[in-house]
Amino acid sequence: MTTKYNDNNIFAKILAGVIPCNKVFEDNYALAFYDISPKAKIHVLVIPKGKFVTYHDFINNASADEVIGYNKAISTVINMLNISDSGYRLISNALEHGGQEVPHFHTHILAGEVIGAMRS
Ligand code: AMP
Repeated sequence: MTTKYNDNNIFAKILAGVIPCNKVFEDNYALAFYDISPKAKIHVLVIPKGKFVTYHDFINNASADEVIGYNKAISTVINMLNISDSGYRLISNALEHGGQEVPHFHTHILAGEVIGAMRS
């Protein structure tokens, strides 16, 4: 996997409206939708609207407004899902060693049950 953004990745197509998603939340900075292959009772993905491959790419190249807006969107989704008291796990996989499948930066929100071991 490359660190150069690929416009044909599946999340870019979701952002462009070419592929549908089960939307949870959207604003100027982020889109949140249910993962198509959930790994927990609640599994939502939050993606920034800009073209970034990884967390590192995002933090280094996005504007301050984009970084704040994206993180606020994650917090908004946590509130919407009503999981702020019961808890959740945020995960962002990056590149080969991180096991990243889709090369558009995203944060997984896993919740709705005890998520279990950090690594199995
Ligand atoms: P990662 O391994 O961190 O890149 O995770 C990519 C995630 O995207 C996986 O959990 C997939 O199940 C999920 N995914 C792939 N295609 C879609 C899609 N069309 N809609 C929703 N989630 C998807």
